[in-house]
Amino acid sequence: MDTEIITIKAQNGYLSEDDIPGIEKAGEIIKRGGIVAFPTETVYGLGGDALSPESSRKIYAAKGRPSDNPLIVHISRLESLYDIAEDVPDEAKKLAQVFWPGPLTMILKKKSIVPDETTGGLDTVAVRFPSDPVARALISASGGFVAAPSANISGRPSPTEAKYVIEDMNGRADAIIDGGGGEIGLESTIVDLTVTPPQILRPGFITNEMIGRVLGTEVETDRAIISPESGKRPRAPGMKYRHYAPKGELVIVEGGDEAVVSGINELVKADKESGFKTGVMACDENAGRYDADIVKKTGPKGDQKEAARRLYSILRSFDDEEVTKIYAESFEAEGFGEAIMNRLLKAAGHKIIKK
Ligand code: AMP
Ligand code: MG
Repeated sequence: MDTEIITIKAQNGYLSEDDIPGIEKAGEIIKRGGIVAFPTETVYGLGGDALSPESSRKIYAAKGRPSDNPLIVHISRLESLYDIAEDVPDEAKKLAQVFWPGPLTMILKKKSIVPDETTGGLDTVAVRFPSDPVARALISASGGFVAAPSANISGRPSPTEAKYVIEDMNGRADAIIDGGGGEIGLESTIVDLTVTPPQILRPGFITNEMIGRVLGTEVETDRAIISPESGKRPRAPGMKYRHYAPKGELVIVEGGDEAVVSGINELVKADKESGFKTGVMACDENAGRYDADIVKKTGPKGDQKEAARRLYSILRSFDDEEVTKIYAESFEAEGFGEAIMNRLLKAAGHKIIKK
């Protein structure tokens, strides 16, 4: 398949007039049953018509994604929610008012118009109204309902830059929109509103505390996604799969700064002697203290937004440089940090060394 690259000039969050023809063309491709990768404020998505079983099948095939891992349906106007979700509870309305458009996905009872192929056979549907202007314009140009998982080959880190979308999806998607997005860098928060109290199925920029405050109730994260040993089946089916992983072996090292720096340097020394190419992911303050072949900075210590924004690009760049052993400093799992640690732990296959 020939993949058309559509370059967007949008600046400062606004589309330019020159961008409109490209977006309209991409919308036509989706309307005719094709698939298009596009930027959002979280990560790049791989979009198809959410109301077409055939389009959803194409998305699964392009990603090599197991078909029991449901897709998120993206909308570009609040009213569209009522076309695809049944019995929309007050909680959903409250959350939409505060957090939409934005990086929050809500699980609701689905209407029959949404095909089983899109929801992985579930009777619920995941809905998100993104804030990115390119994403919104594309959804509108595509008929209003775009099913879109992250635009990576299944299992790899989600793409936050067009070059990584092109790496994974060239020849697999009909078009790739290059431009914008990636401001948050991690996938949306998923909240399940079909259970009482609501439950977080995937942590993200919108935290449990933020959701809890709006709903006036305490909101907890599904235990099954936090610990691989919990023995429970996660309620978000995708959470059971290995995810976000670089090709090299990734290990998280946790502890005080001094212990972590010396601990990682010992491991790096041994790996180098065994002929491995080594990489370290560290905060700006510690980066200069590592002897690894490649050291990537996650931003100032404690800056969660910067670390989240850079995480997937760093993991991908270790692949680019063919690093075979990777060590990551740990992050505080508070607030947005819960999402960072959730992705990092999955990328590391839960391999963590405490110093
Ligand atoms: P991705 O598209 O890669 O961002 O992954 C979408 C995530 O949303 C996956 O982990 C899915 O399991 C989850 N998801 C989508 N639809 C539902 C649903 N109806 N119920 C629970 N989780 C869902
Ligand atoms: Mg994904």
